[in-house]
Amino acid sequence: MAAEALLEVADLSKDYGPVRAVDRVSFTVHRGEIVGLLGPNGAGKSTAMRVLVGYQVPSGGAVHLAGGEVFREGARVKRSLGYLPENMPLYPEMRVDEYLAMVGRLKRLDARALPAALTRVRTMLDLEAMWRRPCGQLSRGYRQRVGLAQCLIADPPLLVLDEPTSGLDPNQIAELRRLLEHWRAQKGILLSTHILAEALLLCDRVLILSRGRLVASGSPKAFAGRDAAAPVATVVTIRGGRGRPLESFRGAEEPLTERQEGDGGLWRIEGRLARAGRLALMAYLAERGWDVVEWNAGLSALEEMFRRVTLESAPPGED
Ligand code: ATP
Repeated sequence: MAAEALLEVADLSKDYGPVRAVDRVSFTVHRGEIVGLLGPNGAGKSTAMRVLVGYQVPSGGAVHLAGGEVFREGARVKRSLGYLPENMPLYPEMRVDEYLAMVGRLKRLDARALPAALTRVRTMLDLEAMWRRPCGQLSRGYRQRVGLAQCLIADPPLLVLDEPTSGLDPNQIAELRRLLEHWRAQKGILLSTHILAEALLLCDRVLILSRGRLVASGSPKAFAGRDAAAPVATVVTIRGGRGRPLESFRGAEEPLTERQEGDGGLWRIEGRLARAGRLALMAYLAERGWDVVEWNAGLSALEEMFRRVTLESAPPGED
């Protein structure tokens, strides 16, 4: 893993009156990794994100980004991150292109850089069809894409995404996962989710928050403990590739089955895979242009861990 720290959060706290929503939370996000902020409803995920990106004033602690300290240095530093809030506020009458141009100017892109940046995000997030529509007419999926476009307009090294898959359909989730994998190579990504399967699929590391406190952190594999090495029942639904999906796949520990589902180009792969096999299958499918529509794998050990630490609110654990 690259050692460059893009985000360093130290002892961050946030009080709303008598409620301590975030309680002395510390962690780091490096370039090249996706870190998942997990926790039950009300755990403090959104608050932690709002504070660490500088949208709200903290009650204590410090946050360093590539360019400096967020609360002391303000706007200049904030340009080195892209933030997707939980509910993306958009001006309903403003067209998508106008809105993104405005964000680009706010992020100090000059008149020469702005057109290229707009073209880049329009293509990357497939916004052509909605480009000149008012934001108020967008579906949930397109609102989310416009939200991601505004994160990426100035090509920042760090992305902070609050529940980026919430409200998206399975195809949109698969597409977003592909984009996240793509961005991971050059950036650091912090995302929040309460979907454990998503964290296992996407994240190199997860941080579990409970009642504002960081109660555990580590790789999803470490959470799953020794069970991670044991194969678990896995069902994957895919589409969009050519030929038979498993034609040349050699990464499974045990034989897998594949069968076509109806006539819509969907295939279902089933079998028992350990973590290495799951990762190999993911990479294999992505390389051959298959879109993962749904991915189900036995998660009992991680689920168990999540339940235990969030119910107990134990002191922070390490990898
Ligand atoms: P969810 O998964 O439901 O979005 P979360 O983990 O993001 O939850 P937060 O929304 O950060 O949790 O809430 C953490 C705590 O802070 C909760 O007790 C919540 O009621 C409280 N809280 C959040 N925002 C405010 C606010 N503006 N004023 C007062 N209390 C707030």
